[in-house]
Amino acid sequence: MIKLFDTAKNEIAELKLRNPKEISMYVCGPTVYGPPHLGHGRFAISFDILRRYLQYLRYKVIYVSNITDIDDKIIQRANQENKLTSEISATYEDKWYEDMGKLNILKPTYSPHATEYIPEMVELIRKLVDTGYAYELEDGVYLEVAKIQNYGALSKQDLSALKSGARVGINENKRSPLDFTLWKLSKPMEPAWPSPFGMGRPGWHTECVAMSLQLLGEGFDIHGGAQDLIFPHHENEIAQATALSQQFASHWVHCGFVTISGEKMGKSLGNYTTLDELLNAHDARSFRLLILQSHYRSPLEITKDTLETADSALNRLDSAYRRFFETFDDIDDITSKNKFTEDFKEFEAAMNNDLDTPKVMSQIFNLVGKSNALADHGDIKGGAELFKVAAIICDHLGLNLKDTSEALDSKTVDLIAKRDAARINKDFKTADEIRERLTELGWTVEDTASGTRVHR
Ligand SMILES: [Zn+2]
Repeated sequence: MIKLFDTAKNEIAELKLRNPKEISMYVCGPTVYGPPHLGHGRFAISFDILRRYLQYLRYKVIYVSNITDIDDKIIQRANQENKLTSEISATYEDKWYEDMGKLNILKPTYSPHATEYIPEMVELIRKLVDTGYAYELEDGVYLEVAKIQNYGALSKQDLSALKSGARVGINENKRSPLDFTLWKLSKPMEPAWPSPFGMGRPGWHTECVAMSLQLLGEGFDIHGGAQDLIFPHHENEIAQATALSQQFASHWVHCGFVTISGEKMGKSLGNYTTLDELLNAHDARSFRLLILQSHYRSPLEITKDTLETADSALNRLDSAYRRFFETFDDIDDITSKNKFTEDFKEFEAAMNNDLDTPKVMSQIFNLVGKSNALADHGDIKGGAELFKVAAIICDHLGLNLKDTSEALDSKTVDLIAKRDAARINKDFKTADEIRERLTELGWTVEDTASGTRVHR
C-alpha cells in the first residue's frame, strides 16, 4: 500500500482508506482573480501525479478541486476594472482551465464553485452559531477558536505562540485575534447572499469545509494543497469540522513552495512569474519533468537554469522516443512480459514510498541509457522494448513523450532521401557529406532503423 507524509501525523504513514477500492480527495483550488502563477502550476502538477499514480494502482479516484469565485480580491479587481465580479471570476476560471490543459492536468471529477454552495455554507454557520462556537459582530460571524480543542495541531503550533503572532485584523472586537470570519456582511454594491445574519458572503475557510463534506462525505481520504495553506486555511477548516463534530479528512498532504535561491521570487524570476510566461518559453513537459525530478515536499527552484536543464533532459527522452517509436508496433505488450515485472515493481516501490519521483526519474534515464546502448549494438528491438517500459511509466506520470520533429521543408526532405539512398548503396562518403549539409542547415541528424531522422 502507498505511504504518504501526513502533515497531521507529522510522519510518513500508510494511506488508510474509507472504502478499499475508492479514494476520495479534495485539493484546494484557485481563487480566480488573476492569471495562474508558478505556485499554482506546481501544486496542480504534484496532485495530478498523485492522482494518476492512484489510478495506475487501479483505485477509483474521486478528485474534487474547487473554484473560489467570490472573494475580496475578486471584488477589488472588479472595482478596478469596472466589471462585475462574475465577469472577473469567469475570465480567470477560463484562463485556469486553459493553462491546466496545457500542463496536461486531468480534469477534476467535480469542480464546485463557492457561489453554488451558499445555502450549505449558511446552514453550516448557523449550526456553529447555535452551538455557541461562533458569534456575531457588526461586520459578520466569527468562529471562536478558544473553544476548539487541539487548535494548532495540524500546523504544530501552540495557541499562545499563534496568538502573539496573529494580527488583530480589521475588527478589534474579536474575542481573540485568532478568531476567523465565517460570514462577512457585505458593503453596499458588493455581491451578497441572504442569511440569518444579514446579507453577505462566506469566508474562504468555510467554503472548503462545506464543499468537501457535501461532495465527499465524512471521513474522506485525502485533503491536499500547497504548504502555505496549512495555516491558517486548513487549520481553520479542521476547527469548523471539529466544532460540527464531523469527521474530516483522514490524511493531509501538502506540497512544497516554489523558491528562488535567496532572492525574492518576483524579481529574480524575471519572465517566469505567470504560467503563461513560462509556457511561452518552455515546453510544458519540461515543467512537469522539473517537478518530477524534485520531491513534492521539497522547495522547488524554478529559474531559467533549472528549466533549461529540464529542457535538455526532456530532449533526451524525446530523442529516444524518436529512435524507437516506429519499432513499438513490432513488439508485444510490455506489461504482460515477465522480464519487465521487476522494472514496474521498482517504479511502484519508489512511488509507494511517499512518491519518490526523483528516484523514478533516475530509473527512467537508466532505462533510456540501456535501451540506447542495446540499439547502438544493433539490437533495435531489444532497445525499443526497454524504452517502452520507460515510456509507459512516463505516461502514467502524465509525461507524454513524443516525436518533436518539425515539419520538414522540401529541401530537407530531398537531402534526407538522397542520404538514405547513398547509405543503402553503401556510399558513405556522400552520406557523410549530406549529413554535414543538414547540420549546416541547423538539423541534428540521427540514424534510425527507418533511415535518417532530423530534428532541431
Ligand atoms: Zn481550501
